[in-house]
Amino acid sequence: MPSEPHPLTIPLLAGNRRALARAITLVESTRPEHEAQAQALLAQVAAHAGRSVRIGLTGVPGVGKSTFIEALGLRLVDAGHRVAVLAVDPTSARTGGSIMGDKTRMPGLTVHPHAFIRPSPSGGTLGGVARRTRETLALCEAAGYDTVLVETVGVGQSETHVAAMTDVFVLLTLPNAGDELQGIKRGIMELADLCVVNKADVDPAAAVRAQTELRTALTLLAPHGAVWRPVALRASARTGEGLAEVWAAVEAYLRVTDVAARRRAQTAAWFDDLLRESAWRAFQAGIDPARLSSVRSRVQAGALTAVQGVAALLAPE
Ligand code: GDP
Repeated sequence: MPSEPHPLTIPLLAGNRRALARAITLVESTRPEHEAQAQALLAQVAAHAGRSVRIGLTGVPGVGKSTFIEALGLRLVDAGHRVAVLAVDPTSARTGGSIMGDKTRMPGLTVHPHAFIRPSPSGGTLGGVARRTRETLALCEAAGYDTVLVETVGVGQSETHVAAMTDVFVLLTLPNAGDELQGIKRGIMELADLCVVNKADVDPAAAVRAQTELRTALTLLAPHGAVWRPVALRASARTGEGLAEVWAAVEAYLRVTDVAARRRAQTAAWFDDLLRESAWRAFQAGIDPARLSSVRSRVQAGALTAVQGVAALLAPE
């Protein structure tokens, strides 16, 4: 059924920043009437989304993520790109405050007319924060941003969400600490398409050693027959050294990778996640809690197997 366009649709598609900011606020709202409006708006702009390079970026606090995004982002806007920077911050989901929300971290990009920076949505579950970031990404694309950087703190969980919404995933590391010391989990290394030893200016020899170690680790992790073998590079976000090579590696990755197929798989997985979550919520809303806990107790006591318990609950009373 055709519907009136949402009042933000036309200015958003024209690249109006205020309209984009208001659309994001709508998407972040938890009020039910806003949610319906947000979904209508997202559906109206969907055909104009999807035209950016989506880059995920992670690394422990202090590794230099903001400095790196500022330096890389400024190079990109200077080259004529329009760059959006978003964040998924697990601490914002827990505490309602964001450790990555401070705009002063990227002073040059913050004031640049072709850059748009949005801190992590706060509050709700990490899954909710990730969903709102994914929707914000689509809005930024519809508003004409051709490069979107999604940043997250490399401390677990949130990386998977960011890797699942981006085309290429970059891990920043430090030159002078082993992987264990840096708290880099094997799972995060497995997500990385590109590893960058940042702060190479501080101790160049250590950076070369760290790069060699990373290369070895990535070779061991790389799946057989993959078209892209994750690479390890060195850079300095402070001096700008190595940033051209990082961008060249991103472009090389995009040349050999079927990004459209990656996105289709991501969308299907996301849909399945949402469906699982909604189906569980609908089930909980429709069941007598006493019945659920009674069946759970019988499973615990061994009177029913878990499979029998589930079948009993799903059968009509
Ligand atoms: P984040 O927590 O990962 O966002 O890290 P920041 O970008 O805030 O950087 C943490 C500190 O490291 C800041 O004082 C930066 O100036 C510094 N820093 C970041 N990148 C580099 C680099 O390449 N070289 C040097 N020497 N310092 C850097």
